[in-house]
Amino acid sequence: MAEVIDGKSVAEDVVRTVKALTAELVAKGKAKPGLAVVIVGEDPASQVYVASKSRTAKECGFHSLQHTLPAETSQEALLKLIAELNADPEINGILVQLPLPAHVDAGKIIQAIAPHKDVDGFHFINVGKLGTGELDTAFVPCTPAGSMLLIERVRGKDLSGLNAVVVGRSNIVGKPMANLLLAANCTVTIAHSRTKDLPALARTADILVAAVGRPEMIRGDWVKLGATVIDVGINRIPAPEKGEGKSRLVGDVAYAEAARAAGAITPVPGGVGPMTIAMLMANTLASAYLAAGLKRPS
Ligand code: NDP
Repeated sequence: MAEVIDGKSVAEDVVRTVKALTAELVAKGKAKPGLAVVIVGEDPASQVYVASKSRTAKECGFHSLQHTLPAETSQEALLKLIAELNADPEINGILVQLPLPAHVDAGKIIQAIAPHKDVDGFHFINVGKLGTGELDTAFVPCTPAGSMLLIERVRGKDLSGLNAVVVGRSNIVGKPMANLLLAANCTVTIAHSRTKDLPALARTADILVAAVGRPEMIRGDWVKLGATVIDVGINRIPAPEKGEGKSRLVGDVAYAEAARAAGAITPVPGGVGPMTIAMLMANTLASAYLAAGLKRPS
């Protein structure tokens, strides 16, 4: 059976390190890292994520600011807020929770964030830096950055020559994940909804990353013996066995089947999920170190 990759515990390690490095920064007489989270509207899932981000920021010792705006907030008002946060020296990281209401152009809002405060890593400057291998100065999107850390925990830092297959090509997960694996000298294939014979392709992967959003799509016989399987998917499905109207979370990988072939696998929940918030804290800390004229912690 596969080693279960405990994302919760790795995320706790990251948060502990961020907390210690925040204390070091403050001890040097520098300002504590500041994270501003902006949420527009009342999407319940977004509210849970935002509350969790703000709570972890406080736990790290950050200056944590939350702007909760009504769903009818105009694009102009949002752009004005971003401009204020860009100019605020107490703020090192700006996160706009997605999705935004339909009348707001999310792309415009994200591109308005100053690249050095773009701790989500979605600004074109940061996307370009990742794409060209400028990893020392890029802010890398949190979910793939966290997935990479989990891969390194089981495989070590040297991934040279390994075959990696990333299923999914979104700008938030699939593409940055593929770029990180490429920068780590893997041979990378990106699969998507038009890929032919995905099971055969998946079976070539020493590292298989699933970021699809389809419950348990990746079956056990798609997994190469000993592969590292990273399941980014978070899907809520009905669970009548738990009672009427109940549900449960599953990933994009059929876990029990895949765990029989894999060398190591992330569970859902408790795998990649907790890493996303932890890496947001790490990115905000890095931004604060750079703003203070210090070397970014590795
Ligand atoms: P998107 O919907 O943006 O992208 C899904 C990708 O999967 C697309 O590239 C799509 O291909 C591909 N795809 C869809 N169906 C198939 C198929 N049958 N075969 C092969 N590829 C397919 O999703 P995200 O990248 O935003 O998220 C992916 C999953 O990760 C979701 O479950 C999401 O909830 C989860 N997630 C988890 C996070 C965490 O913190 N753990 C953070 C972010 C996301 P095409 O481009 O051709 O349409």
